[in-house]
Amino acid sequence: MTAIKTYHALKVDEQKCIGCTHCMKVCPTEAIRLRNGLASIQEVRCVDCGQCMRACPEKAIYVEQDDIDQIKQFKYRVVLFPSIMIGQFPEKYTEDQIYSALLKIGFTHVFEVEQPVGFLKDSIKEYCRKEKKHKPHISTFCPAVVRLIKIRYPSLVDHLIQRKSPHDLGAHFAIEQLKKQGATEKEIGLFYVTPCSAKIASVKSPVGEKESIVDGILNMNAIYNRVMKAIDDQEAPDSTKQRQNLTRDGILWSLTRGESKHFGERSMAIDGIHNVIRFLERLENEEVPEIDFLELRACDQSCAGGILMTGNRFLTVERLERRAKRYSPSWKFKDSPIQADAEKIKEKLIADKIQPKPVFMLDDNRSRALEKMNKAQRIICFLPGIDCGACGAPNCQALAEDMAQGKAKMSDCIFLQQLWQEEGKIKATKAFKNVEKKWGKDRFQADCNKRGRRNEGF
Ligand code: SF4
Ligand code: SF4
Repeated sequence: MTAIKTYHALKVDEQKCIGCTHCMKVCPTEAIRLRNGLASIQEVRCVDCGQCMRACPEKAIYVEQDDIDQIKQFKYRVVLFPSIMIGQFPEKYTEDQIYSALLKIGFTHVFEVEQPVGFLKDSIKEYCRKEKKHKPHISTFCPAVVRLIKIRYPSLVDHLIQRKSPHDLGAHFAIEQLKKQGATEKEIGLFYVTPCSAKIASVKSPVGEKESIVDGILNMNAIYNRVMKAIDDQEAPDSTKQRQNLTRDGILWSLTRGESKHFGERSMAIDGIHNVIRFLERLENEEVPEIDFLELRACDQSCAGGILMTGNRFLTVERLERRAKRYSPSWKFKDSPIQADAEKIKEKLIADKIQPKPVFMLDDNRSRALEKMNKAQRIICFLPGIDCGACGAPNCQALAEDMAQGKAKMSDCIFLQQLWQEEGKIKATKAFKNVEKKWGKDRFQADCNKRGRRNEGF
């Protein structure tokens, strides 16, 4: 088990960044600023949704991952992966062939994390039945949404369901299984394959938890490529037994409506971070009718649209739905082999209460925050309201707030500089120096081959 530090998965490669501002414009939490012509992520505001990485035409934003060679230090090398991974592989490959290829690349045991989903489903039902004060109940499946609520909608934190994620329960289940084979906890290395950056952050520094149960995180696109190299058309050994606890509900859990269809009379599923934000605004303003259960996912098509997925998200959904049809809807309770571990897994179901961590206030002190907000409102009167991003902030409001906090200056606005030149308040050379300082010296040289000359990928 690994001790917790606050962790963010996305980093900017300054050698590759060309300061095009695409990332800054799509970031749903306004976490990105351009400094000296380069993107910089403000960690306190980042929810690891990955929108910036998707938008970057230079692939300058990347997701850190652990070295796969780390697995070698363990006797029992366990790969834990969500069922969504299977949906990426072309139909010609069977589940047996994929499991077998995972063993070929160095793992000794293969577990799909959704095997204990039946316990989770029952436990969430019970939670929703007993907890009547904070409706709608909001799923904690998507870590980007949980972080978003913590930092931007603190008044909604009590709506979050105190239950763990399938990957957490899957990890505990794997440990129980291996102990039965004689393994000690020290000998077991758990490596989780993630479809998105938010899960990396949540596994390394789980919200509302004291420690991370897994030993390493591997990006799904990297594992996909390794498996594709190792896989072949030969018949693979039968691995059905390793999936004997997997159900249709479990396989579909990470897709849109995978959870919400099980809970409450009135439930909703919303995917896409900007849709989620619009809905949370309404919820916070009490403009939403009586809903029992909310499934909110940051990515379009939920985990099928995760930034570390290689396949087309719609094809992935279709493949997974077809796969799920071959499995029984849920466990035949008393016959299921997982029942032997029921008590141990149930002990792990309840997560610690999630605490709000508002970072959108302009100061920790309420009265100072109010003062700064008033100051920002006065500043905004002088800004042009064009939201061009040339100041290095995503819009004029964000620049005004940065200024009220002492993090930016009026002269960052290129339009105000023009005005001041016209009024003779500053010299043209000084104004140009300011712009160069923000965007870099070579930026304004004519060069038809300069990086970022096209709007690639945006
Ligand atoms: S991961 Fe999301 S929240 Fe974080 S900087 Fe990128 S777009 Fe913004
Ligand atoms: S989108 Fe543009 S500004 Fe943002 S990291 Fe990529 S290259 Fe840099």
